[in-house]
Parts: sequence; C-alpha cells; structure tokens
Amino acid sequence: MICDNCKTREAVVLQTHTGRKLCKECFMEDVRKRVKLEAQKQELVNSNKILLAVSGGKDSLVLADTLSQFINPSKLIAFNINEGIRGYNRSEDVKKLEEYLKDLGIELIKSGFKEEVGFSLDEMLQASLKRNLNVSACTFCGGFRRKLINEAGIKVDADYVATGHNLDDEVQTIIINLIRGDLLRLIRLGDKPLIVSSKFVMRVKPLRKIYEWETTIYAHLKGFEFQETECPYISQKPTLRAKVRELLYKLEEKKPGTLLRILEQFDEISEKLKKEHRLTSELPNCIICGEPTTPGRTICKNCELLIRSGLMPQ
Ligand code: SF4
Ligand code: ZN
Ligand code: ZN
Repeated sequence: MICDNCKTREAVVLQTHTGRKLCKECFMEDVRKRVKLEAQKQELVNSNKILLAVSGGKDSLVLADTLSQFINPSKLIAFNINEGIRGYNRSEDVKKLEEYLKDLGIELIKSGFKEEVGFSLDEMLQASLKRNLNVSACTFCGGFRRKLINEAGIKVDADYVATGHNLDDEVQTIIINLIRGDLLRLIRLGDKPLIVSSKFVMRVKPLRKIYEWETTIYAHLKGFEFQETECPYISQKPTLRAKVRELLYKLEEKKPGTLLRILEQFDEISEKLKKEHRLTSELPNCIICGEPTTPGRTICKNCELLIRSGLMPQ
C-alpha cells in the first residue's frame, strides 16, 4: 500500500476520518500541521511563555513534541505534578519524561500535592473516607491539579497553560456539560480561550482536534515509551463520562469524522453564545485561599473538600 499523500512511501496508517492511507512521515506531518493550526487560532504562536501541563502519558508527550516544532522550546516550560498516589506516581516515569523533554530543549518543573497542599491524594481520600464523605478520588485530584497548574502558570509568568486534552476528551466534556446544562463551562470550551478571572492563566488545548488514536500512534511512531500504568482509582472516574465515551465511539465507528464535526459545529455555536451571554464579569474569589470560584460560592470546592474531610479547620 502506497501513501495517498506522497505517493512514494509505504502507508502505515489508515486515517479513517479522511479515508487516506498515510506513511509514517505524512501522518506525523499531518498531526503537526493540525496542532499548529489550532495553536494559531488560540494565539499561542506569538506568546512569550507557555506552561505545558505534562503527566508523562502519551498526550503530554505529543503536546511537547508537536509544539516544540514551531514554537521556540525556550518559550515552553513543562510542569509535572506528583499527586501522591501509591503505585502510580513512579519516579522512573518522571525521569523518562524529563529526558524526552531535555532532548526537545524544554525545562521541566516538578511539584506535588504533599508539598503544595500539605496532603497527598491518598491522604485526602483516607481522611474523607473516615468522615464517610461520598467524594471520589478524581474529584480531589482534578480540583487540586487545576489549582497547582494555575499557580505554576502564574509563578513562571506564563501567558498560557497548555494541556494535552485530545479530541475525544473535548467532545466527551462538551456532551457532559450539555447533559448537565452547565452553560458557563460549556462556553469556556470553545476554541478561543475565554477570560473569566484575572487570576486564571488562560488554558488552551492545542491537541483538541487530534483523535486519541492519532496521539497514540504518533507517540508509538516517535518511539516514546510513555507511562501506561493505570491509576488505582480509575474505577472512581465518573460513570457518565464512560457512558458518553462509549456512545461517541459507536457513532464514530459508524460514521468516521463524527467527533471532529461535533467539535467544529460546537466552536461555531460557542462563538455566538459568547457574544449573547455577557461573561465578562469576574468570578468571585474564595474567602479562604483567594482562588477564583464558581458564581454564588464564597468558599471554593477545594477548600470545602478539605474542611469536610477534617483536614482544614472550619
Ligand atoms: Fe486522578 Fe482519577 Fe485520573 Fe487517578 S483516575 S489520576 S484519581 S483523575
Ligand atoms: Zn507519505
Ligand atoms: Zn479556597
């Protein structure tokens, strides 16, 4: 099978949403081009500093690799968090990640829940269980990770925080927020970042138009050995996401390109929604930690979780 693009090299990938058979070089070039296009839309290209939130998984490696092809690596700083999950946060994986980043010319800064919040994720969960709180590990994890990433972005004076969320993640989140009727979150998912608080470094997702299978293949073709250990709390992930994920895969299988079309349509709608809904007012700040919080709240979700778990005085 010959590559449909260069017509010379052997094809190794069938890109289902375009129907093209591509060789390794043309496939990787296609992914890079689409990442660049999205980064240009998100105005990343001319920024002075971008913090890359990297877990060590395939998406974060693809994020670092593709961005460093068209953005000077000296403008990129990678940030890795040790959540404090026994058996999951392995120093060998971080070492490998650090080496890949070094080869790309990107510095890595490391942080952890224990150092920054005072408790590891395991400790937070144990405390919450003692109090019979019905809160999943992922709720603690997501909230504190967002907080630490934002703080790191402010510390290094980053214009943007870039995460490795791919197309599958993004469309799942859109559908979940639609089901929940969460308009504010929904609008913030558009392709142009929306400022809702001056205390938030703008978050962007340059891989949001790249299918998850494409990031997996890209990482393999690149020879990355990425972290594949599963988090022991994976079963606590919200079941709604798992159901939406399954449904979307079925639709994509029946009609390749469905996810991409949903996202493109959504971006158009979100632009209109942003104009209609005046979301320029700032989010309120938490009276304990000072972080921005959801409208109507005085204490942020993170502080509330620590109080309810008995880890922070009321
Ligand atoms: Fe965190 Fe949940 Fe992911 Fe584990 S599965 S890393 S607890 S979000
Ligand atoms: Zn080719
Ligand atoms: Zn708070």
